[in-house]
Amino acid sequence: MLENMDKKYVLHSYARNYINFIYGKNATLYDENKKDYIDFTAGIGVVSVGHGNEKLSSALCEQAKNIIHISNIFVIEPQAKLAKKLVELSGYDMRCFFANSGAEATEGAIKIARKYGEEGGEPKRYKIITLKHSFHGRTITSLKATGQEKMHNFFGPYPDGFVYANDIDEVEKLCDHKTVAVMIELVQGEGGVEPQNKQKVQVLAKILKEKDILLIVDEVQTGIYRTGELFASNLYGIKPDIIAVAKGLGGGVPVGVVMTRLKDIFSYGDHGSTFGGNYLSTIAGNVVLEILTKMKNNGLLDETMLYFSDKLEHFALIHKNIINKTVGLGLMRGFRINNAENLSKIIAKALEHRVLVLKAGRNTLRFLPPLTITKEEIDIGFERLEDAFKDLN
Ligand SMILES: *Cc1c(COP(=O)(O)O)cnc(C)c1O
Repeated sequence: MLENMDKKYVLHSYARNYINFIYGKNATLYDENKKDYIDFTAGIGVVSVGHGNEKLSSALCEQAKNIIHISNIFVIEPQAKLAKKLVELSGYDMRCFFANSGAEATEGAIKIARKYGEEGGEPKRYKIITLKHSFHGRTITSLKATGQEKMHNFFGPYPDGFVYANDIDEVEKLCDHKTVAVMIELVQGEGGVEPQNKQKVQVLAKILKEKDILLIVDEVQTGIYRTGELFASNLYGIKPDIIAVAKGLGGGVPVGVVMTRLKDIFSYGDHGSTFGGNYLSTIAGNVVLEILTKMKNNGLLDETMLYFSDKLEHFALIHKNIINKTVGLGLMRGFRINNAENLSKIIAKALEHRVLVLKAGRNTLRFLPPLTITKEEIDIGFERLEDAFKDLN
């Protein structure tokens, strides 16, 4: 049996649900019994253009028949094209480095910042300020950058130089002569889907510029149109020095990117990746951006976001005994639930009623649907969520 095999041979680092999905179409998944599920998670914000996307899958099949991988010793055409697209669409004068995951993207951002600190002469600047409740990845360094002490219980000793600010207001106070960068998410994904205040972010960006401290924006979850613009940084009207990208870019194919305006920060050999930016993942990135920019330009993306938002607000009003408020931006949304116990119950009941949702922080029900989700899928999803809430009483 699949469950037994999984439990016997795979390390137990995930609290798994044993539903075996075998087929997917856009925001609808089908299990082995042909039961359909509405996917409000997109695999934690990854499947940006939906499951079984024909354009994406046929481009991947075509590429797989030709070359999947060579190495970064040779130029890789779709990699160069994807870099050009990311730079031009963002409007930021930057260059890209390709990796394979969000953690590698934030890790790359940290390496760029440390190199910058190294070049500035004495004293060497190396400290990086991040925020409480942030999430930046699972490698030893990106985990240390993550401002959640409970996640640092094992695995030490960690690299030095990470400082946690309670919130954006506290960042300036913590800057000293050894601070080289500040890394933030504009909407904390894992931390509870709470967007930062736009004006405060703009003020911080200005202060950091004056102090020659780099602003790193972790757009691993917020990026690739998740909040309505290519990057949340575009929405906030700021110009970061470094941007980390991953999740939604490959539509499910692993890809991570770190972009920076410090175009000559790395010399040959300073950084590298075996798989990063290979043919398969960068073809995926190109097709995903093609699909999403089209949706952005013809208004469908904004329309979908508005439709989802209306449904969400309406639902929250009806259930205000359980839902304290709605949070988030674009298609990165959530309900703040009145207590953690109810949240666990809702997630379990939602699964019974065949709608997939996520948890964030202690008491947030999180929604990260594919950006291509249809109105009909949204309708069905909220109907099923309604049934799940009915079961609570
Ligand atoms: C998911 C996430 C990461 C880590 O990405 P992985 O691909 O799991 O390594 C880093 N930062 C943010 C903001 C994320 O949401």
